[in-house]
Amino acid sequence: MKAAIVGANKKVEIVEKELRPLKANEALLKMECCGVCHTDLHVKNGDFGDVTGRVLGHEGIGRVIAVGEDVTSLKVGDRSSVAWMFESCGKCEYCVNGQETLCRSVKNAGYTVDGGMAEECIVTADYAVKVPDGLGSAEASSITCAGVTTYKAIKESNIKPGQWIAIYGLGGLGNLALQYAKKVFNAKVIGIDINDLQLDFAKEFGADLVINPAKEDAAKKIQELTGGAHAAVVTAVSKAAFNSAIDCVRAGGTIVAVGLPSESMDLNIPRLVLDGIKVVGSLVGTRTDLAEAFQFGAEGLVVPKVHMRPVEDVNDIFDEMMDGKIKGRMVIDFCDKH
Ligand SMILES: [Zn+2]
Ligand SMILES: [Zn+2]
Repeated sequence: MKAAIVGANKKVEIVEKELRPLKANEALLKMECCGVCHTDLHVKNGDFGDVTGRVLGHEGIGRVIAVGEDVTSLKVGDRSSVAWMFESCGKCEYCVNGQETLCRSVKNAGYTVDGGMAEECIVTADYAVKVPDGLGSAEASSITCAGVTTYKAIKESNIKPGQWIAIYGLGGLGNLALQYAKKVFNAKVIGIDINDLQLDFAKEFGADLVINPAKEDAAKKIQELTGGAHAAVVTAVSKAAFNSAIDCVRAGGTIVAVGLPSESMDLNIPRLVLDGIKVVGSLVGTRTDLAEAFQFGAEGLVVPKVHMRPVEDVNDIFDEMMDGKIKGRMVIDFCDKH
């Protein structure tokens, strides 16, 4: 089968690969598609360590064509995901208290184990989340990473219907954050981005207020117009966005960090203490979070913007990503051509 692997010189290679036989508790997926994520760019560049030869991909959707012994959660014909949270130990304090993404021995698809950017993929059946009917595979691939990450972040913000939530950064993650905040949590949404095109897009998806921080002070405007947001979710990879998020919330507000700039943020301690501000980090989502995020997609509440591309385009897609040319999600198509 054809697979996109981490190759030499920071390039992805398309190779023929033989999969090992299935073990107990595993399922074999015939892949339909796999989204290309910024995390894949880091993995193939070796930013997280050298994983030459690893099959990329943690936004995969495939159909089960075989199951190993003792598999009860999946059957042949089901569609299922290949997610970043590929498998955790199932026994540690994080795994048993609903925080399995924090498990210290978690396995990550397309990084520590072979992922879904291939014609076939072996998954641990109990950790592969089923895709509900009514949700397209391409849309599901986007929800497997960006969707569940932003859905979980908004859950962590504890936003209530009718309250104001500020979304910093309206790219691939932020656009989905906006949709989940608006359509699922019934919040009033403020979209913040330095790109006016993304702001227009945000308005189309129902943002109540949009602000370009390159043109005006976002925190000041939010304080003036709303009395301060109840929560902020920061998907922007920018220290300035994190600092603005602290300033934009009202007393008791929560800031949820999703973007990963490599710097520290400025956190005024009196502001933190006297105003009871909470700052929390949020990393992807559990299997339950993903099942919920899929279901809202299947119900049509959240619609990821996707573009199908052949696997041979994978290096071009990474070049486009580096140049900031990508709008929506690029998804590799592994379906048979009819
Ligand atoms: Zn991803
Ligand atoms: Zn664990």
